[in-house]
Amino acid sequence: MIAKIKGTVDILPKEAARWQALEDLTRRVSKIFDFKEIRTPIFEATELFHRGVGDGTDIVKKETYDFMDRGERSVTLRPEGTASVVRSVIENKLYTEASLPLKYYYIGPMFRYERPQKGRQRQFHQYGAEALGSYSPSVDAEVISLAVTYLKALRIDNVKVKLNSLGDKESKASYRQVLLDYLAPKKEHLCGDCQNRYQDNPLRVLDCKVDHDNPVLLEAPKPLDHLNASSKEHFEAVRKYLDGMQIQYEIDKNLVRGLDYYTHTVFELIADHPNLGANTTLGGGGRYNDLFKSLDGPEFPAVGFAFGLERLILTMEDDQEEEEGLHCFALAIGEEARVHAAKIVRTLRHGGLIADYDLLDRPLKGQFKQAERQKAMFLLFLGDDEIKQGVVGLKNARTGEQLNVPLKTLYPTLVEKIRAEAHACSGNCEDGCDGSCGHDHE
Ligand code: AMP
Repeated sequence: MIAKIKGTVDILPKEAARWQALEDLTRRVSKIFDFKEIRTPIFEATELFHRGVGDGTDIVKKETYDFMDRGERSVTLRPEGTASVVRSVIENKLYTEASLPLKYYYIGPMFRYERPQKGRQRQFHQYGAEALGSYSPSVDAEVISLAVTYLKALRIDNVKVKLNSLGDKESKASYRQVLLDYLAPKKEHLCGDCQNRYQDNPLRVLDCKVDHDNPVLLEAPKPLDHLNASSKEHFEAVRKYLDGMQIQYEIDKNLVRGLDYYTHTVFELIADHPNLGANTTLGGGGRYNDLFKSLDGPEFPAVGFAFGLERLILTMEDDQEEEEGLHCFALAIGEEARVHAAKIVRTLRHGGLIADYDLLDRPLKGQFKQAERQKAMFLLFLGDDEIKQGVVGLKNARTGEQLNVPLKTLYPTLVEKIRAEAHACSGNCEDGCDGSCGHDHE
């Protein structure tokens, strides 16, 4: 047997319903904020991620899936979405559009060669949103507002927004030097990974996951205390917008995020949920004003975030959605009737009804069982007599009510009855349901 690749999962039809619900909600919330979908390729030139995400980051150093294609080009499965969105905006000159900021979102698979564990895979999915083309601190707050609304729509409570600022390029560079000078004599007190990060990506040392109680890190200088005047002003303005929108946040001076491209605002959304560990990071993002230039684009500021969908799916585990059933299932008695059933079902499907029939040559009893398994709302009976008379036996599976309907009027009759049945079973007594439908009423 050929098994799936380590760190990947099959989303089987039963779970796919939950994924669809999550994706629908994701699209709906994005639309409310007027973010439009962008779909970029899942593989790109390797160089895009080396220059975009950063050579010194864990992602690029240890986690990308790189390979040579048959044309000897080095390509990489995307480990995140932002670099591709920026590449696409540059390549398609979307930065010239009159309506700014561009507000884009994406949903799709990402690939990182990490150690697989609960909620952490090698192929996983992200929802990301990017607002491109504005320096205004209002956009930082707008993107955080979208992220918070999204989690609210998913009914995830106890969400914490952590906020920090790394400052602009100038602040980042001068702070980097301050940090290097501070760490230089204390290097041997850092964990192995951080000793390497000291060279390549010193800011990440602050965010060390294994060593958070290390006094060397606790006492280290923080980016927020080394902002130049304009970076400070930007950060204060972001806070003012968040306060104005009554979005609660905590300042976390150690928050730096894993990717090189961030400038100014960085943030993370953390939740306490029984299906996740305590304080799990669901997503995060920040401003990246210099990424366009480093990818040979124009000066074009931007801010965005990404959420991991696997973690969000885990929070939805208890909302067992009722699987949708068929509108009707055709039961055939006899060879000729089977062909007839196939034809009728085909016509009903063309009219948009969810219809099916037996594809295993079952006896009638087996066909009944199958109709039940597929949760058919109506059963259609076809035998020699019905064919001769030009009628179909129509039975309401819930009430047992049965009548013969002329074949010619089957479709409109069914549509009407399905509508009435949906009304009866809406689960809302105010719609006139007497409660006999057997569904739970809220
Ligand atoms: P990042 O792009 O690293 O900022 O990650 C954003 C979010 O994506 C994280 O907060 C996680 O929820 C999710 N994520 C990152 N890596 C993985 C992974 N290997 N498996 C599942 N989710 C992930």
